[in-house]
Amino acid sequence: MAVLVYIENTDNKLKKSALETVSYAKAVAEMLNTNLVALSIGNVASAELESLGKYGVSKVLNTNNEKLKSFINQAYASVIAQAAKQENADVVILSNSFAGKGLTPRIAIKLNAGIADGAVDLPDTTGGKFVVKKTAFSNKAYAYVELESSNKIISLTPNSYKIVEKPESVTVEDFSAAIKDSDLKTIIKEIVRATNKVSLPDAEIVVSAGRGLKGPENWGMVEELANLLGAATACSKPVSDAGWRPHSEHVGQTGLAISPNLYIAIGISGAIQHLAGVSSSKVIVVINKDPEAPFFKVADYGIVGDAFEIVPKIIEEVKSL
Ligand code: FAD
Repeated sequence: MAVLVYIENTDNKLKKSALETVSYAKAVAEMLNTNLVALSIGNVASAELESLGKYGVSKVLNTNNEKLKSFINQAYASVIAQAAKQENADVVILSNSFAGKGLTPRIAIKLNAGIADGAVDLPDTTGGKFVVKKTAFSNKAYAYVELESSNKIISLTPNSYKIVEKPESVTVEDFSAAIKDSDLKTIIKEIVRATNKVSLPDAEIVVSAGRGLKGPENWGMVEELANLLGAATACSKPVSDAGWRPHSEHVGQTGLAISPNLYIAIGISGAIQHLAGVSSSKVIVVINKDPEAPFFKVADYGIVGDAFEIVPKIIEEVKSL
């Protein structure tokens, strides 16, 4: 018996959400009195993999295969399931990231496992049960899911668990999984951005704007603030529908769901469909000229006023720091 954690990387560097997932998985492994094994797919430097020992991993399986250079759901799910079988892992934990959302059900089918996706807390094992608190209804509610199957998959909501150091001696082993041609059927077209912009799904800070900005010509101040804060830019649906911003920036129920540490919403009303994608952000700052805007109900900090006056002032303030 073991707990297997799948750790994601971007450009062969471990993501912050990977360390959160490792810390969560270590706590689960301790609850179950078992070892934590991590699986990495990609070309992550061995020193970085060894550093996982700091967070309680005792073994890292490393799959570095040309065929898996691009992310392919079916193939990655197959490798993770094979690693779980090899390690006798009855609990598999991964991030409920963009990739994780596609992987979780596929791994579950391969392992005949129950799923708790979008977990926000450690499982409650009182009375021999295994109950996981998870988000439900687009983050508007919590559900408590009891996993009765012997194999279990948990995907952890990013930003819901702190990174904790628990030093452990660690070994890194190559793991060569069998990859079927049928798992490589999806052709991935990778679009490499020429800009140095922060990637939206992974961003710690997001500066987002809506129809209140009146037109695409006014996004200069949004980009300037984002650059100063090392943030990604995002937008509401009507903004991307109107072609003011690319669809890749659209957040919400029908767009990306994100959970940054800081979400700054400028001229966005806070419709329920928008909140569905951003309400699990740690701190929400809302700038809106309408004091009745629904976004203020979920804001940690609200500024009532004209974005065209307030945002330049914030930019000046940040520059002076
Ligand atoms: P508006 O509702 O027009 O709000 C603009 C806001 O800007 C207002 O609150 C106004 O007070 C403020 N404002 C105006 N001028 C200024 C100024 N100078 N300074 C400061 N504030 C100002 N929306 C999403 O965003 N994401 C989704 O995924 C999504 N999915 C949807 C799915 C469905 C099935 C449906 C029906 C709708 C969906 N929507 C989604 C649309 C959603 O319902 C709202 O219409 C949309 O979020 C509104 O966008 P907005 O806040 O930018 O614009």
